[in-house]
Amino acid sequence: MGADEVELRRLRMPLTTPFRSSHGVVSERDVLLVRVDEGWAECVAPTEPTYTEEYVDGAHAVLRDHLVPRLFDGADLDGVAGHRMAKAALRMAVVDDGLRRSGRSLAMHMGAVRERVPAGIALGIPSSMDELLEDVAAASAEGYQRVKLKIRPGWDVAPVKEVRAAFGDSLALQVDANGAYGASDPAHVDALVALDGFGLLLIEQPFAADDLVAHAGLARRLNTPVCLDESVPSAAAASAAIAMGACSVVNVKPGRVGGLDEAVAVHDVCVAAGVAMWVGGMSETGLGRAANCALAAMPGFTMVGDLSASARWFPVDITEPFVVEDGTLPVPTGPGAGVELRMDVVESFTTSVEVLRRA
Ligand code: MG
Repeated sequence: MGADEVELRRLRMPLTTPFRSSHGVVSERDVLLVRVDEGWAECVAPTEPTYTEEYVDGAHAVLRDHLVPRLFDGADLDGVAGHRMAKAALRMAVVDDGLRRSGRSLAMHMGAVRERVPAGIALGIPSSMDELLEDVAAASAEGYQRVKLKIRPGWDVAPVKEVRAAFGDSLALQVDANGAYGASDPAHVDALVALDGFGLLLIEQPFAADDLVAHAGLARRLNTPVCLDESVPSAAAASAAIAMGACSVVNVKPGRVGGLDEAVAVHDVCVAAGVAMWVGGMSETGLGRAANCALAAMPGFTMVGDLSASARWFPVDITEPFVVEDGTLPVPTGPGAGVELRMDVVESFTTSVEVLRRA
């Protein structure tokens, strides 16, 4: 990997649906774009370090101070420990630059076997049951092929039961706990076991990321597949989790595993083990969404991903918006990630630009 110039650009993009965080209501997404020469990528690190340790200000700092200097020196980015979302963005921008120069698409580069990928949606925890039912009805009307509900202790069996009662057993439904359940809390475990009766496609990441033993124990008690997200930062971690029986499905996110190459390594581990996969989401702009669609077009991704329309997150996107048609999203075929940035829109949301050059 070589490069002459790297740009770190911050954007504040209005969200379609503001949400509540520990700091109050969040109505914008703080986005970090990375440009390497002519190639662009998006860093998926969120504003706060609540999903993993990574957050956007930290990613910006480690890119500027540690990763970009290594890129310019031709050194291995893995000389820096962790910081996978930051590394993934820099690596993706390098790949985008190379593919643009050769006129090839990421989908071609990834070995895509589909021209369109099934669209799925993740619904956050709403303020009421009525709101949840409205959200599910809207998602179904928009054609999403499956719905994922976020759950947490106290908001699990009741919403799943209500959704099943309202929409029937044919709705493809799964839940994601983001590690909110305590493996040593009997009430928490009982609630997860109670979810087994609702025909869910999977239960995602009920326990803490580092607790593979607890996930294996739950998996033995359930007919519903256990899926891991935060527990899988690498292909090696995927191998360990599968060997332990901690999951039978893996949610793959390029940012979480340090880039597309590692995502492909996870894909290959799962295919070899007969473990199903789908592509997760980090409320990406069209730029990150394009890469996710290319990844999801690989043969091992047999389950519906968190691949939604741009409008799910952003009223105005920085690329041509992704639109769900017949329950699917297109796999972009243009050079690089396959989409072009609308630079006028990018400029209108930009809050800072930092350009670093090889010495
Ligand atoms: Mg998840």
